This record gives sequence, C-alpha cells and structure tokens, in this order.
Amino acid sequence: NTEDIKILLLENVNQTGQDILKRQGYQVEFLKTSLPEDQLIEKIRDVHVIGIRSKTKLTDKVLREAKNLLVVGCFCIGTNQVDLDYAAKHGIAVFNSPFANSRSVAELVIAEIIVLARQLGDRSNEMHRGTWNKVSNKCWEIRGKTLGIVGYGHIGSQLSVLANAMGMSVIYYDVLSLMAIGTAQQVPTLDALLQEADFVTLHVPETPETKNMISTKQFEQMKTGSYLINASRGTVVDIPALIKAMRAGKVAGAALDVYPNEPAANGDYFTSELNHWGDDLRSLNNLILSPHIGGSTEEAQRAIGVEVSDALVRYINQGITLGSVNLPEITMRSLTLDEPNHARVIYIHRNVPGVLRKVNEILADHNVDKQISDSKGDVAYLMADISDVKVEDIKDIRDRLDSLNSRILTRVL
Ligand code: NAD
Repeated sequence: NTEDIKILLLENVNQTGQDILKRQGYQVEFLKTSLPEDQLIEKIRDVHVIGIRSKTKLTDKVLREAKNLLVVGCFCIGTNQVDLDYAAKHGIAVFNSPFANSRSVAELVIAEIIVLARQLGDRSNEMHRGTWNKVSNKCWEIRGKTLGIVGYGHIGSQLSVLANAMGMSVIYYDVLSLMAIGTAQQVPTLDALLQEADFVTLHVPETPETKNMISTKQFEQMKTGSYLINASRGTVVDIPALIKAMRAGKVAGAALDVYPNEPAANGDYFTSELNHWGDDLRSLNNLILSPHIGGSTEEAQRAIGVEVSDALVRYINQGITLGSVNLPEITMRSLTLDEPNHARVIYIHRNVPGVLRKVNEILADHNVDKQISDSKGDVAYLMADISDVKVEDIKDIRDRLDSLNSRILTRVL
C-alpha cells in the first residue's frame, strides 16, 4: 500500500520533487540538512526510501542498518556518496539525475563565448576598480566564427543548436559517430577540430582517455588567438599548459568552471595548497573563473526533483529500474494494481547458474504473461507479470522465492 511507504528526504530536496512523492500518498519526512552518522543510522532503520544530495554519505556501515530500505534517490548528478556495490548486493536500487542540468550548462557556455570574445570580464573588473578603459582591439562578434565542440552528448548537442542560432558554424569531435544537428559537422580527429575552431569547448566525461586531453601538444594545434572553455571536468585540461598558452598569446581567453581539485564546501580555494597554480590563474587576463556552477540553476534543481521523484515512484509502485545506476535496467508496461488476479513478481538475486529454472518452477502454476530478467555484475533482476493468481497464492510465491539461496530481495506488487 502506498500509504505504508515511509520516505526520508534530507538536504532540502527540491519542493517539486517532494510534491510528486506526497501526491502518491507516501509518508514523507523532510529535513533541510543532512544528519550526523549516528542520527542517520537511527532514522534509516525505519524507512523504505531515502532521498539525499551530495552531503549524506551512505556507506556500508549506514546501509547495513537500513533493513527496510528499497531505494535511494540521489537528487543530484553524482552518486559517489553512496556505496553502490553494497546497495546492489542488498537489493537497494539507486537513482540519480545525470542530465537534468544540460541546458543550464549549454546556456552558460553561450554566455562565456560572448564574454570572452568581448573581453567583458576584464572590462567589468576594471570598472569595479574604478577604471574606464574603452577598447575595441581584438574584440569580436561571434557571428560567423567556428565553435569546436569536443564531446557531442547531452550538453554538446544542445550547445550546437544554440550556437547555430547565433550564427556560428559548429564542428564537433566525438569518439562515437553521431548525427549532426542543424548545420553542425563532425570532424574525424581532435586535431582537425583544434586547427579549425575559433572557440574550443569541452563536454567529455572524466575518463582515463580524457585526462589532460588538452595539453601542450593540443594548444600547439589551436589557432593563434582562439579561446578555450572547460565546463566538463577539471582533469580534462592541463592547467600549467593552459597558463603557458595564454601567456604566449596562443590562447586569447579561457573560461574554467571546473578544476582538478575542487573543495567540498564553499570557502577559500585558490589559496589552498592543492592549487599551486592558483596565483598564476588569477593573474591572467581574459580568463573567466567560476566555481562549478554550470548546472546550478533553479530550473535544473526542479528538473532533478522531477526526474528523481518520478524514478522513485516508478520503482516503488512498478518495480521499474530504468535509470538505476547500480541495478540492471528493466522496464515493463505499467501495472494496473487493481486488476483482479494479477501480480507483478520481482526477484532480485545473486547472478548464479540455475536461478531461472527454480523461479519458473515456483511460478509454473500460474500464467506468466511476461517475464524479463537481466544482470549487472553479481546481481540480477527478474520481473514477471502473472495472472490467474489469488491473494492466498501470493504469500506462497513470496515464501518459496524467499527460501531460494540465491535470493537478495523478493517483492510482489
Ligand atoms: P554525455 O555523456 O551526454 O556526453 C559526453 C560525450 O562525450 C559523449 O557523446 C561521448 O561519446 C563523448 N566522449 C567520451 N569520451 C570521449 C573522448 N575521449 N573523446 C571525445 N569524445 C568523447 O555527457 P554530458 O551530460 O553532455 O556531460 C559532459 C560533461 O559535462 C561531463 O564531464 C559532465 O560531468 C560535465 N558536466 C558539468 C557540469 C557543470 O556544472 N559544469 C554540469 C553537468 C555536466
């Protein structure tokens, strides 16, 4: 029953997200902050669902106490605050919202392209210090210039549309062969992109291949007087190489939203010892520095709230794992809960040989309308819609599935 589901929302989860959960009739407890570990352990024992953002650490120690927990909603992008492997092995699904802020990032990049082309950051800083310095030398329109997008995924492709609309030519480089949007054109190599682009913007994930993807050699390939924007991950740009390229005038301006060592909380950053290049960056002209705010908008928070809450509702009510980061992704048509003599069986189990045979022996007395199963690493997820099942059969099915030694979690909806 939906009213039996207890949800704990921490860290001031967005209102729109909360409302979606309350509308389902779940019992929702909302707290503005995260909790110290002992209080978290106390509270998590009781709940079926927990919603967190980046500050709540769901370690194995905490999750071990969460005996009723079915699912974790990370109302944010990252999920490394959760022990995903432990959660999967205990049948706890984890959801997040990786792409809800793509538009926000794309808009910020558009702004930065113009700000760099017009040296607007420097002019504004000068005015703040009291100096009137009217300049047109090396200030440009962006119309007709070439934007080179490295990584044509959610953000890169949105940016492509916006840049096209502003009269820029767009080229992109990606490891995948991807359909071009508008008049954009894919180029075969990173070097080809660097040689042609007036603005280079990075939208690749953080991987071993993208570490220092833009370093001395790549700066050499870039046009003299071109610009670099990085709102992807801090490891993608070799910062000392960027500093050199800017001092040499090769790169006429840059915008950085992300850095190799980012602090966990607001406060002094460039004075920290981790960033021996902090002072060098601060001394450069036409360099926009922002504190990882690419996706930080009210709209993105709302979109994250909707995406994660919708995923939680689908999982709680239907067992659908679409978008889960730690369980195999399984979807089936919507379940009509009030349909008589129907049930949806969900069996999360260890991925070992012979399980399906045993499960199907248990389900064999009923009519299996549809069944799907998939695995991810050590954990497998089976979903079966059965008809011709009476209320008294359900307990029997559940007990028999629970008695299999491959069992992690059984649910019958
Ligand atoms: P995405 O997964 O949708 O797209 C990434 C693209 O990069 C894919 O098309 C992929 O094929 C391509 N790619 C992967 N490795 C590559 C390589 N070695 N060379 C060339 N292309 C490669 O990701 P997205 O949502 O567009 O996000 C892009 C980046 O932006 C990520 O690093 C993400 O973490 C970051 N991001 C930053 C902010 C912010 O606040 N600044 C917000 C959201 C996302």
